[in-house]
Amino acid sequence: MAKTIQAIRGMNDCLPTETPLWQWVETKVRSVLASYGYAEIRMPVVESTPLFARAIGEVTDVVSKEMFTFDDRDNESLTLRPEGTAGCVRAGIEHGLLYNQEQRLWYMGPMFRYERPQKGRYRQFHQVGVEIFGIPNPEIDAELIMLTARLWKDLGIFEHVTLQLNSIGSLEARQNYRTALVTFLEQHIDLMNDEEKERLVKNPLRILDTKNEALQQVLNDAPKLLDYLDEESRQHFAQLCGLLDAVGIRYEVNPKLVRGLDYYNKTVFEWVTSALGAQGTVCGGGRYDGLVEQLGGHAACGVGFAMGLERLVLLVQEVNRQIVLPRAVDIYVVYAGENTTLPAFRLAEKLRSELPHLRTMTHCSGGNFKKQFKRADKSGAKFALVIGESEAQNQQVVVKDLLGGSEQQIVALNEVVAYLTQAFNA
Ligand code: ATP
Ligand code: MG
Repeated sequence: MAKTIQAIRGMNDCLPTETPLWQWVETKVRSVLASYGYAEIRMPVVESTPLFARAIGEVTDVVSKEMFTFDDRDNESLTLRPEGTAGCVRAGIEHGLLYNQEQRLWYMGPMFRYERPQKGRYRQFHQVGVEIFGIPNPEIDAELIMLTARLWKDLGIFEHVTLQLNSIGSLEARQNYRTALVTFLEQHIDLMNDEEKERLVKNPLRILDTKNEALQQVLNDAPKLLDYLDEESRQHFAQLCGLLDAVGIRYEVNPKLVRGLDYYNKTVFEWVTSALGAQGTVCGGGRYDGLVEQLGGHAACGVGFAMGLERLVLLVQEVNRQIVLPRAVDIYVVYAGENTTLPAFRLAEKLRSELPHLRTMTHCSGGNFKKQFKRADKSGAKFALVIGESEAQNQQVVVKDLLGGSEQQIVALNEVVAYLTQAFNA
């Protein structure tokens, strides 16, 4: 036998046994987004490499070590998108969606990061992202958080996630803070590993979310970003907190939350869970008022978030015991004997036309009734519809309840839709 080829490390198949749960989650997501009036945008999965370097920042983890980058046949450097915001802003500028306009956009799809695969962390993973343009007010930051809270309720995971919130202020406030933080951290350089020492120079704010426990201890006494906020950011944050209080969404102000990408300002937030081990962040976002201009558009403010679908699906599996996934097959049509194929096909097509919400499978692969009933049982269908020679001649069908709720019945073909409608509603 020839050697088999396997999937790329960290890139998973979603098997037919898993897709029903994924579809269930995706349907909830779509329906919540629609209920807020947000519009879907679809971008390519490949973009020009400089887009990410410019949007996300050269010294971020994502750009410096996690991107799948390659040259195409014309030696243009391309990158599989590691996140959606950069591409969404690129598309918005390119199609004139952002200048002097308000947009509430969402997308769903695969993202790619070269990371060490483990539970909740993959090289191809899926995000749902929301990006809002042209609305500076904290009301929209609050709306985004309300939307996510509603989704967690719909997914049955609300009790298992908590909201962490911070404001990282204006660029200028952050620069002042950066100076103060570096002065403080330089006194503790002996506690730092090489990576942290490098961050101290390139991106000191990222040291705030270090996993190094000795350093974490020391950081409790570090200057706080919230004390360096500019007045406008301070008010914006106070209004956001006030709105969340008013609608009853609990949050924890986490002064160490800075998020990994460079483009944020003012609001940053994360929804975290303790139910998934180390990969605890299911959703993260924030405001990025300078990004559109930084990517060459007319200045337009923005705010958004992205959530990881793999982590949400894992969390739903872990904590939501109430889900009833739809049956893969509701009705299985079996037939054997002379002149039964066409009546069986006609019957199945009629059901698909008149009862399109039911899933009707036709046997198709021959064999005697015994074999066919085995398949029908295995399909998980509630009813088998049976057409033998006498049923075909008499315009009838035998309805057999495979889950054992009722006796087998002979039903006239022209009454079968009514019969099944009633049976499935019972
Ligand atoms: P982490 O700290 O876990 O690496 P991040 O800050 O890099 O997350 P973001 O860039 O904010 O993540 O992406 C938003 C969400 O996408 C994350 O909260 C997470 O749910 C999901 N996510 C990010 N990277 C991965 C990955 N490699 N595999 C699966 N999901 C991911
Ligand atoms: Mg990451």
